[in-house]
Amino acid sequence: MLLDVGDSRRLRFLAIGGIGSLVVGGAAMAFALETSPQTQQGPGAGTLSPASVATAGQGGTPAPAGPAPGPPTAPRALNVVVLDPAHGGTDPGARGTGGIQESEITLEFATRARQALEQQGFQVVETRQGNENPSFDDRSAIANAQRGAVFITLHIASTGIPGTVRVYVNADLPPVKAANGLIPWDLAQAPFLGLSRKLGDLVQGMLTQHFKGSPDAAQTAAIRQLRTTAAPAIAVEVSSVVVNDRAELDHMVPGVADAIARGVAAFKPLYAMALPSGALP
Ligand SMILES: [Zn+2]
Repeated sequence: MLLDVGDSRRLRFLAIGGIGSLVVGGAAMAFALETSPQTQQGPGAGTLSPASVATAGQGGTPAPAGPAPGPPTAPRALNVVVLDPAHGGTDPGARGTGGIQESEITLEFATRARQALEQQGFQVVETRQGNENPSFDDRSAIANAQRGAVFITLHIASTGIPGTVRVYVNADLPPVKAANGLIPWDLAQAPFLGLSRKLGDLVQGMLTQHFKGSPDAAQTAAIRQLRTTAAPAIAVEVSSVVVNDRAELDHMVPGVADAIARGVAAFKPLYAMALPSGALP
């Protein structure tokens, strides 16, 4: 299930102009998390060290931010996929008959999606690998610490036609005024909405090939988790926990993983084209 908690605006900001640069829709901007550590890597631009991936993916409370790799002017290509198995810990998410818990099944979907994405050459960071429940902000912070990443949160619905899958992107957000070099944490998604829609439509298209009756294009909704994510970001919601047998969901795992991996691979050249002309390696 997808929830928008609707919390009030918070006085937390993403600093702009510090590290790296990315052109989205023709406007140059750079993001630097206020929590970014001081460490900088040398050449190797845009890649994550295995250590940083492991740190973010380990059990327990994830680090709020990983190293910010790459020199300041490094061209950025899509290298990293942050997978977010929603819920966990004291939050089981949607619950169905027979003890089916959304928080458990999203882990299963994430594990297989990771394998499929790695086969496509992507590095994968998971916001949790066990039964923890990182906060919305912790999960977004993991994504926002990456360079050249997309973010995919995985949910199981309590509604919808069993055997179908829907992709959501965040609803429109107010324009970001970044004149002072800061954008509100709660509006981090705003500059990426166009790219998120492209990614969402591509992944939805692949999903619909596997799961007939699914929509043809991504839908929009107010999604708390996506709003604070400074990267192309989508939610994938599988229907549903209201199946008689968990095996019905298990059977969907390979198809969802394949669709996500192929959708992200199809998106990769679109992401690279958003970089400044002449900046590509
Ligand atoms: Zn959910």
